[in-house]
Amino acid sequence: MRVRFWGVRGSIPVPGTDTLRFGGNTACVEVSAEGAPTVVLDCGSGARPLGRDLLTRSGRDLCVLLSHYHLDHVLGLPFFDPMYAPSFQIRVVMPDPDPPATDLPLKHLLNGRFHPVRLPEIPPSVRFESIRPGATFPCGPIRIRSVPLIHPGGSCGYRITHGRRSLVYFTDTAPFAQPGEGLAAGRDPTEAESRILDVVRGADVLVYDTMFTLDQFITKMSWGHSYPEYAVALARAAEVAHLVLYHHAPDANDADLEEIAARWADHSAPAVSVAREGGAMDLEG
Ligand SMILES: [Zn+2]
Ligand SMILES: [Zn+2]
Repeated sequence: MRVRFWGVRGSIPVPGTDTLRFGGNTACVEVSAEGAPTVVLDCGSGARPLGRDLLTRSGRDLCVLLSHYHLDHVLGLPFFDPMYAPSFQIRVVMPDPDPPATDLPLKHLLNGRFHPVRLPEIPPSVRFESIRPGATFPCGPIRIRSVPLIHPGGSCGYRITHGRRSLVYFTDTAPFAQPGEGLAAGRDPTEAESRILDVVRGADVLVYDTMFTLDQFITKMSWGHSYPEYAVALARAAEVAHLVLYHHAPDANDADLEEIAARWADHSAPAVSVAREGGAMDLEG
């Protein structure tokens, strides 16, 4: 299984000289495995370079999993070139608490006003499919388990398993315990944490929303994002091998992110790294 980061930023793309090392594109992660459809996690602005790269490859079977519909996670979708190439077969999985949705959320984005292409004009090689967060479903030989997260308007996390390897993608979520409670406080997991641990346990990689520092989190607890110390506590309890800090704040420049990377560089169980646009991880087996 190969994991490649095409966009690691939250909220809004931030191109510029002070984001060159970690990248300015918003949420988009590719997971590929031999003989399996390519999984695309979110379609932020990072989906544009991914789409252009996919056109140069032989694989034509894609499974796009959206976490939710905030712009930083879907704004690359209309610019994802494989959508307009009939040689591709694309399944777009959209979380909805009450499927089958009759009013697809993407209809509002692709309505001719925010982008010239309307949803009905997307070629039939692209299939849109609503799932209830919590559903488990296959994507070729890959097993996918979804789970509701904590975020304004809702968000959906995914565990992707191929053979013996698993990656968990949790972006745009608040911690699963209040400050002073649960894993980050060194206590027993809360009920919500127990449910989440069941999904995350033993994963090779956990990609997790750490948009805030702990201090920022305290003043923005209702925004539905987490911070590194919480991610580490969750990953440790779940016996995750490698935690990737993800969905960086637009105000976090390269120096800020290097500082966070340095702070966690020596951590083990789990190993911790900071997601970098263009970065890749190979999971053997
Ligand atoms: Zn976001
Ligand atoms: Zn969001």
